[in-house]
Amino acid sequence: MERDMSIDLIAIRCENVTKRFGSVLAVDRVDLSVAPGEFLSLLGPSGCGKTTFLRLIAGFEVPDSGAIDIGDLRVVGPRRWILPERRRVGMVFQDYALFPHMTVADNVAYGVRKWPDRQERVGRALRLVGLDGLRERMPNELSGGQQQRVALARALAPEPDVILMDEPFSNLDVALRARIRAETREILARAGATVIFVTHDQEEALSLADRVAVIWQGRIAQVGAPAELYREPTSRQVAEFVGSANFLNASVANGHAQCALGRFGLNGHSADRDFELMFRPEDVALTVAADGDSRIVDATFYGHDSTVTVRLDTGEHIEVRLLGTPLAPGTRVNCQATAEPRFFQRKAHAFTPRPHPTEYSR
Ligand code: ATP
Repeated sequence: MERDMSIDLIAIRCENVTKRFGSVLAVDRVDLSVAPGEFLSLLGPSGCGKTTFLRLIAGFEVPDSGAIDIGDLRVVGPRRWILPERRRVGMVFQDYALFPHMTVADNVAYGVRKWPDRQERVGRALRLVGLDGLRERMPNELSGGQQQRVALARALAPEPDVILMDEPFSNLDVALRARIRAETREILARAGATVIFVTHDQEEALSLADRVAVIWQGRIAQVGAPAELYREPTSRQVAEFVGSANFLNASVANGHAQCALGRFGLNGHSADRDFELMFRPEDVALTVAADGDSRIVDATFYGHDSTVTVRLDTGEHIEVRLLGTPLAPGTRVNCQATAEPRFFQRKAHAFTPRPHPTEYSR
């Protein structure tokens, strides 16, 4: 079903939100809007301010400045403060925060214990997460994935407009995580919730979200659909944080940019600038050739694919992703770009060809 993204329909709107802890600027003038039913990931490295931003929306922290609206309710702003329990927001924490001495049903009922229709709400929430049969179990009798679903049911029981999730899958092992992620995504879509989901795992952000907001040192570096962020990063930081990126030095002449992987059209970029061209590891094809001008210097096998580090004839190194078994170090190859590069303005210090660490010993 097509989601309504018209700008007058906003589930969460943050305007110029700032939060300091002493000298630490945890959230720095953040503007962000989320549409009803949208699933937005906040992606960023540890300490960039993701959790603080969620806590500001939930009402567990007070911003130093800025305003936040949830639906048509201003929950915080100048001379305005709505208590967390009045914000119609549910929160799922990294450690689930289940009460160990309460049954599944009592845990889910906790947030609605004073509501007259709590039994119906608990029933609906447990059915939604597929745990109706485990109402009387204690948390320590549940698997990690089941505990995660109880936490989700507890957040959903009050039928909030917004669900905020803080790294909810980080306690699950890798095999379970992929399945629980997909299930959670489906449950939340069925509940029609608007979701902001914090993660530092780029794969998780890209695979789950309708849009991803990359946060860097308290600021939003870029917001976009997952494919847009990956293919069209607007800064080196985003290019490097969202996936792996190779940057090659380019010189501009005759309306083209020339780098170690060939000549590329400028696509509207100024001919007066120096650029680095960005290629993703899967954007380069390798052909084994005894007289190839590039050489494999390192290889890592991951099972489903492998990556090799290639030393180009310019002395630059790139990482290339291959399906199947990697090529052995020492193999000579020719390299060909299979996609148009992304252009970034070159910084003065950008290009210093150095041996790859594995080459020192050769
Ligand atoms: P992580 O992924 O490691 O959880 P994060 O992106 O969620 O990190 P935050 O927890 O929001 O980051 O922290 C942002 C910055 O604010 C960090 O430098 C952190 O040390 C600081 N900070 C967070 N809470 C407090 C607090 N209560 N008092 C002082 N500093 C804090």
